[in-house]
Parts: sequence; structure tokens; C-alpha cells
Amino acid sequence: MASLHSVTGWDDEADIVIAGYGIAGAAAAIEAHDADAAADILVLEKMPEPMQGGNSRASGQSLLISKDVEALKDYQRRMSESNPIPEAMLSAWAERMVALEPYIEQRAREAGAQYIHGAGWSERAAILEFPELGAREAVAHTATILPIPSGVWLTFKACVEQRKRIRRVFESPIVDLVQDPDTLEVFGVIAERGGKRVAIRARRAVILATGGFENNLDMQRNYYGLAQAFPLGTPGNTGDGIRILQKAGADLWHLRNQGQSGGIWPGFRFPGHPTVFLRQLFFQSFSWIDIGGTGERFCDETAEWQLTHYKQKVHGEWIDLPHQRVGRMHMLFDENTRIYNNLITKVMTWNAVVHQYDWSDDNSAEVAKGWIVKADSIAELARRIDRDPVVIEATVARYNAACAAGKDPEYGRNAATLQPISAPPYYAIEIVPAIVCTGGGARRNIESEVLDPAGRPIPRLYEAGELGSMFSNLYQNGSYLTEAMISGRAAGGNAVRLAPVAR
Ligand SMILES: Cc1cc2nc3c(=O)[nH]c(=O)nc-3n(C[C@H](O)[C@H](O)[C@H](O)COP(=O)(O)OP(=O)(O)OC[C@H]3O[C@@H](n4cnc5c(N)ncnc54)[C@H](O)[C@@H]3O)c2cc1C
Repeated sequence: MASLHSVTGWDDEADIVIAGYGIAGAAAAIEAHDADAAADILVLEKMPEPMQGGNSRASGQSLLISKDVEALKDYQRRMSESNPIPEAMLSAWAERMVALEPYIEQRAREAGAQYIHGAGWSERAAILEFPELGAREAVAHTATILPIPSGVWLTFKACVEQRKRIRRVFESPIVDLVQDPDTLEVFGVIAERGGKRVAIRARRAVILATGGFENNLDMQRNYYGLAQAFPLGTPGNTGDGIRILQKAGADLWHLRNQGQSGGIWPGFRFPGHPTVFLRQLFFQSFSWIDIGGTGERFCDETAEWQLTHYKQKVHGEWIDLPHQRVGRMHMLFDENTRIYNNLITKVMTWNAVVHQYDWSDDNSAEVAKGWIVKADSIAELARRIDRDPVVIEATVARYNAACAAGKDPEYGRNAATLQPISAPPYYAIEIVPAIVCTGGGARRNIESEVLDPAGRPIPRLYEAGELGSMFSNLYQNGSYLTEAMISGRAAGGNAVRLAPVAR
């Protein structure tokens, strides 16, 4: 923390200072604005304006809608069993979740956007991740706001822009909080603008909504136990909020659990792109397999793992698929798969949605770039990707024999997807473990107050969204964006009701 004594003068001030402009920051700003017609609200965003929006903008935009408080509570309790959410918080969250749909519809109306049931890009009306734990009872339906992509984010952005008293300043990462070293009371933030440190006074409170630590490999290793993990969302999320909150005297929670809530997905990584591409979720043909470090397959590649956020059931427990611990991975495929499938997901991720990288429909441009390696035989393909040709030929032969038999003895792949890799030329693309989000951060309560290790709120300090998320272990689709709304609203509403600091 920076103490008040170290601040010789304030460079800027506002009633509420919000750091991070994703859905959590936007929801906090809207709530504070609407609760107090006179409040001056300042949102500080680290990224340049064209790269605003955080993971909220790059995400799949699906929202969990529930109509049953008790069923939702039971479901979430069971998903979080290995690192529980305090019962009072769980109850209040479930009540707020069940009341959330009209709030979302209201935002869509204000923005002139269309709220729809379903995720928009999938045919399912409701994505039910863990029915055995109560998904069917808890999830009324999935919802989103058009357009695809980014509709929910665009709606919240429009709602913020309509509220003229919300100032947004870009390229201004916060780096510290100004606090009383004894009471920890927060008086403002230190941010960086144009390479200079500036002190910004917060007359009522500071809200941190700086997202997760997807881009911070050191934190991935220390908090998640992932040796390598590459982000699918914004490059801006580097765990700044966690570092700042640690220094501010906050307790931490939910950083690591049995599984990574968002899961570990197959991604593609290329030079010049700091974040990674997400592999296609809906293949039209299946003449492909994935191999790990030994050159052998390591899972049922074509199961719809996205429906459980890449969790598989082993010994009766849902755990992450092994993408982060099978060594170097490649996807191997033939000409049919190249022609009939665009290899990446275009409805979400930073590269597709924000950079709008235009991946060629038949992948030919990416073959030409050398991102996808091509060869006339499997042995040659293996050599080009620095693999043992004998091992790779044997792996493909085993898989093709399973296709001929209509049964996959190794991983039980659905027979309808057992299509041989037999149409030359052949292709390989390297897969990296990719993540959609991180959980955890500072411990907070349902009012979004940041708690110290003794469980006491740090005065005038709030936290919202994925930073400090209450979810750990298993996760139901659509919970993160709605959590960002609920925690952002609580932070903004509570912060604006505080009396301005006396001095
Ligand atoms: C590919 C993908 C798909 C997803 N799909 C879904 C889905 O369908 N449904 C769902 O519910 N969730 C989904 N998620 C998760 C969800 O998007 C996030 O959990 C949610 O958007 C988090 O919102 P947030 O406002 O907390 O953070 P973000 O939206 O990530 O915003 C954080 C902001 O803080 C800024 N920032 C960082 N450090 C600083 C600093 N020091 N100072 C100032 N600003 C800072 C960042 O630049 C960023 O703009 C998905 C995520 C990804 C990546």
C-alpha cells in the first residue's frame, strides 16, 4: 500500500474509483450511477480503448438463468464441495441470481439490444454441466444478448456510455492503493498514466474489477499448479488485482482446487499473437486425433468436453482433462478434415473477436503460413513435427483399425466419430493448454467487501467479478458473467452509499 503521507497531492479525484472495465466494472459503475444521481464515477482501464472489455468481451456470452433458489444453492454447494462457499453467501447469491433476469433484460432494452434464450451459437436451450449434481433442477435456461459475438459486453458498454457521469480513462492501470497503514482504510489509488505515477483520490470507495491472472505464468504455476497455460481472453489480465490486494492486507481464497473451474481447453498458439486460438467445438468430420508427448493418444477427443468445461470423471470424481500434463501435444488430421472444418472457434476468444483474425475457412492460409504442417505421408509429417515416425505411424494405424472395427478400445470414442485418417495429404497442428479464466483472489463477502485475514471488511475497498470469484472446482456455464453482474452491482451500490471520507 501507499500511505497517505506518501501522496503529496491528488492528480484526479472521484467519488468512486473503479479499476477494470469488463462486465464487473461496468455493472459497478451503472449501479453506483443509478443509486446516486450526483455521484462522480471514474473507471480506470489498463488497456487502450480499442482493446477494452476484458474477458467479458471475448467470452462466449452465455448467461445462467435460474428460477429456483434452493435448487441453485444445492447445485452450487455440491460443485464447490471441495472448497465450500460460506453458506450465508451462497444463499444470498442464489437469491440474487434468481432475481437477475429482469435486470439483464432491462440492460438490453436500454441498449436497444435483443435478449434471447440459449447461447445463440449452440442449439442447446440450456447447457447443463453436471446433471447428477442438480443442474437440471438449478438451470432454467441459458441466455444471451445479441449480437454474436460480444453482445452482453456491448450492451453493458452502451449502458455505461449512456450515463454521462461515468468517466472512463484508458491506458491507466492501477498499481497500488492509498491506505491508512493502521486501519487499512482506502483513500484512493496510484495509477500509471503515460509512464507516470498518478494519485487519484476516491472520496467514497475503490472497487477492483481487474479480472483474473490468465496471462501471468508465474501465478499460474504458484496458484493453479499449471506448468504451462495460455490465455484465450484479454492480454490485460495479469493478476494485478491480486498483487494489489495482497499488499492491501486482504485474505486470499479459492485460488486452486481439485479442478480448474473454467477448465483446460485445446488451444493453438502462434508468433505475433500473445493470446491463443480456441479449437473448433463443432467439427463436421472426424478424421483426426490428438497425441501427447509420447506420440500416443491421451483422451476421447471428440466427446463434447465443452459441456463440462473440460472435466472428465475419473474414479467417480470430476477432474480436469489431462491437457496440461501429457507433454507436447499435436492434432493430426487428413485432407477431409482440413477442407470441411475451420479449425478455430470464431464466436469467442480475444484473437477471433477483438483482433478479428480472419482464419481461412479451409485452413489453407494457415497451412501456407506454416502454422499447420503438411506432408504427403504420416511418416514425413512426423519428421516435420520432430516426432518419431515409427511411433506416429503406429498410433495412426491403431486409430484407423479402431475406425474399421467401429470401436475405440483405447478411449471409447463415439463410433459415429471414428473416421480414419486416410485421405492425403496429412496435417499436424500443435495444441497448447488454454484457459478461459482463473478463479479466486481476495476473500470477499456477498456485499463485495474485501476481507482481511480476520474476516473484517477493509474499509472502503470492494472487489468484483472474476478477481476473487467465489467459484472453485466445478463450474456451471454462464456463472462467471452473472457473478460479475451480481458482485459488480453490490460493489457499486454499497460504495456509493458510503459517506465521503472526512479529510
Ligand atoms: C473465451 C472465453 C469464454 C468465456 N465464456 C463465458 C461464458 O460464456 N459465460 C460466462 O459466464 N463466462 C465466460 N467466460 C468467463 C467470463 O468471461 C469472465 O469470468 C468475466 O468476463 C469476468 O469479468 P470481469 O469484469 O471480472 O473481468 P474482465 O472482463 O476480464 O475485465 C477485467 C478488466 O480489467 C483490466 N485490468 C487488468 N488489470 C488492471 C489494472 N491494473 N488496472 C486497471 N484495469 C486493469 C483488464 O484489462 C480488463 O479489461 C469466458 C471467458 C473466456 C476467456
